[in-house]
Amino acid sequence: MPRPASVTRASLPPQPSFPGANATRPPGARPPVDSVQGRRERLVRDLAARGLQDLAVLDALRTVPRDAFVDPALASRAYDDTALPIGHEQTISQPFTVGRMLELMRQGRPPGQRLARVLEVGTGCGYQAAVLGQIADMVFSIERIRALHELARSNLRPLRLANVRLHFGDGRVGLPHEGPFDGIVVAAAGFELPQELLDQLRVGGRLVAPVARGDGRQRLVVIDRTGRADWQRAEADDVHFVPLRSGTT
Ligand code: SAH
Repeated sequence: MPRPASVTRASLPPQPSFPGANATRPPGARPPVDSVQGRRERLVRDLAARGLQDLAVLDALRTVPRDAFVDPALASRAYDDTALPIGHEQTISQPFTVGRMLELMRQGRPPGQRLARVLEVGTGCGYQAAVLGQIADMVFSIERIRALHELARSNLRPLRLANVRLHFGDGRVGLPHEGPFDGIVVAAAGFELPQELLDQLRVGGRLVAPVARGDGRQRLVVIDRTGRADWQRAEADDVHFVPLRSGTT
């Protein structure tokens, strides 16, 4: 099993967020716990307490406003550590799961070391793509449901993340013209991992994906490309994702 990031857990100082988030707060002062920023910081502290250790990932989760990616009617639950519906029978992933997958994908890099190019399969509402945008130089994310691709586009626009590119299509074939990728993260569970995705991994790169099993359960699978024709597979946590489907709609 790959070791999770070996960064020591530290107390989590308040971080600057998107422009204006801290504008009225004196430097160093904690936000009120019922403010959006306060709820986000409390969620991140809970995720660290549950075992997320990679400070780069925790910072990324602290920076991205999850409330901007859920329906306004669900805004009060945006900082609960749960998946929430986003329409079209899909969900925004649970924050712990997003953090866990990205921690695994970073392979224990030091907090300041960004991944160069990453691919996400299953943009959904765009939340994880925004989080990836904090830890990678370039993020490519692909979604097969056009309405969700458009939703993600409008959710991401105000955040002005110039390094996040959205594509509409079947993510099982990846984006061969944009690869190879240092990291690939799949946000929907198939019964097998498409060879196209494994081929688009850079040697030394890592793919993290949920894989469905015959008994109805799913397991996070971590694949390292160790050579031109060599991949190593390890299994991590039990998870629960929506299904990886073929084609577009
Ligand atoms: N990344 C999202 C999670 C979205 S849920 C987040 O930030 O919370 C998973 C998404 O994968 C759904 O939107 C679903 O439509 C999409 N999906 C399923 N199969 C796919 C495929 N073959 N190609 C691209 N997207 C796919």
